[in-house]
Amino acid sequence: MKIDKKLLNITFLGTGTSQGVPMIASNHPVCLSTDSKDKRLRSSILISWGTKTYVIDCGPDFRQQMLREQVALINGVLFTHEHADHTAGLDDLRPFCYKIGEMPIYLNQKTFDSLEQRFQYIFSKENRYPGAPSVLPNIVDKTPFIIDDVTVTPIQVLHGKLPILAYRIQNIAYLTDVKSISDAEKKHLKNLDVLIVSALRIEEHPTHFNLQEALDFVEEIQPKRAYFTHISHRLGFHKEVSKKLPKNVFLAFDGLKIEA
Ligand SMILES: [Zn+2]
Ligand SMILES: [Zn+2]
Repeated sequence: MKIDKKLLNITFLGTGTSQGVPMIASNHPVCLSTDSKDKRLRSSILISWGTKTYVIDCGPDFRQQMLREQVALINGVLFTHEHADHTAGLDDLRPFCYKIGEMPIYLNQKTFDSLEQRFQYIFSKENRYPGAPSVLPNIVDKTPFIIDDVTVTPIQVLHGKLPILAYRIQNIAYLTDVKSISDAEKKHLKNLDVLIVSALRIEEHPTHFNLQEALDFVEEIQPKRAYFTHISHRLGFHKEVSKKLPKNVFLAFDGLKIEA
């Protein structure tokens, strides 16, 4: 089936690493910065087309992000992996579930198993607490799927040794918490207008791209534009790091809106 290309609107809900920036109880200069672009909630994006709105990941800052961006409704959640900084906001889907009923969620089997254990009251079929959010899980493997007339291609990347999901939606791709990606999966990243990829910090890390690895990856994939996310205070000040990047590469910041 041929699907017409839609205009995608993306909002960076959060661009911080797992503890956010500033980090609790840190005196690091970046944590003390008064520049609003150095304040990073946990990583997530909002993607809209037509009247439909989805989020990729739903971390502990989800409620604050929905209020800040005045989001009236979301139609579903795509999860990359089970870590708390990407999933801990699941209970805050409630206001949307009350509007639409079961909220479609898209996730791999391992993420489903983890959420089912951690949020037993949400997934339980018996004796459900009436106020619990209702979700409609869709298990994602490598097969592309269609949501609201847009094709989503799951891409498997490695977060250290953990296989997790990235997503390509039309000509944008969102890869967070990535340390490596096979050549076979890289084939899904040709001809991108926008590549969003994590770049944790300056020093190397066992499970995340550092800045240099993210820059090398952009060089290899050759998207028209790239935005870095999942940023730690140890990457440095937004303003200073931004100046050193190639002209088609940007540090994302919370609230940044782009089109593709
Ligand atoms: Zn993370
Ligand atoms: Zn993670």
